[in-house]
Amino acid sequence: MNLSRLFATTSKNVIHSRFISKSTGSTLSQMKVFGPFPEYVKIVEVGPRDGLQNEKQIVQAKDKIQLINSLSATGLSVVEATSFVSPKWIPQMADNTQVLRGITQLEGVSYPCLTPNLRGFEAAYEAGAKEVAIFAAASETFSKKNINATIEESLARYKDVCDAAKDKNIKVRGYVSCVLGCPYETTTSIDKVVEVSKKLYDLGCYEISLGDTIGVGTPGATFKLLQAVSSQIPLSAIAVHFHDTYGQALANILTSLQYGVNVVDSSVSGLGGCPYAKGATGNVATEDVLYMMKDLGINCNVDMDKLMETSLWISKLLGRSPSSKVSLALSHKTNNNNTATTTTTTKLAENSPQQKQQFFIPTSCPIQDETLKSKTPNFEQQKSSSSSSLVFN
Ligand SMILES: [Zn+2]
Repeated sequence: MNLSRLFATTSKNVIHSRFISKSTGSTLSQMKVFGPFPEYVKIVEVGPRDGLQNEKQIVQAKDKIQLINSLSATGLSVVEATSFVSPKWIPQMADNTQVLRGITQLEGVSYPCLTPNLRGFEAAYEAGAKEVAIFAAASETFSKKNINATIEESLARYKDVCDAAKDKNIKVRGYVSCVLGCPYETTTSIDKVVEVSKKLYDLGCYEISLGDTIGVGTPGATFKLLQAVSSQIPLSAIAVHFHDTYGQALANILTSLQYGVNVVDSSVSGLGGCPYAKGATGNVATEDVLYMMKDLGINCNVDMDKLMETSLWISKLLGRSPSSKVSLALSHKTNNNNTATTTTTTKLAENSPQQKQQFFIPTSCPIQDETLKSKTPNFEQQKSSSSSSLVFN
């Protein structure tokens, strides 16, 4: 089925009554929005790991623990906690054991940890991990630069991880990077994405997250990608992981939902960044995804108010505004309706130290201004935390 046919046929699908618009009374089919969509979508929160590892400012373990605990208290069922990679690669994750042991692991919530090899897996297991994640790339050049291994070499390492995980009854999630574009190779081969995804699935990964690492994907490309990958592994085992570099992430997610995907990765406050594309805005923000899901009548079991509070808190800790448009819009709305608010001015962390940025924090935000001052990004620390090997997805 080609893309134009998909749009043509799905717009005629029967739309459940839950999709009737409260504001207009019209149905989504009349509004020419296609569907149907899954009733429930699992959001995999990647902020504490994929997000923070790409933040140049080192965040203290106690703050990471608070972030993870706050996120799991929103109702999120998966919160990626940390990664067990060499501190030389990722200084931000050097406190992995302290963080994993320090969090309150709620029943029914999974806290996967990234493990690049058997040694990382064993360290994660020792620290109490009940789920791990492994990450391969669909681009040979990216694989070598990101994890210093060819794709085949990385898959051989992951076989060891998956075998060990199976023995210990630990779940394994698989990531595939560069599924819609690569910073080093001109094109990404969909066949390669399919091949790597299938190999990870066959190794025992229960879920394969397809990562648009540099955020260049579009809905058309997303559709073709899903069509190809789902021909080899079950759609129920596919997750999508979009970065919003070109502002396409929500459109790509909408396309994925329409295709039948029901697992979406996102990062609170849009934490993260892309070192390969200047100006990149990193992972799609969880608040933005949730806002769209609610409108579509999709249940995610996440409390938006608590999520917003966490988003504003971590943004303030990092000394900048949320990357989430929803967080910005709702916090401005709150402030316009509430005179008892705080306006905080802080210097931007990167690129233009003289440039000032204003953002608005409700007075209920748990971090006070004095704390913010002590958390102003340390530029020397940022420099020392940079790395050529980022384990990026
Ligand atoms: Zn990411």
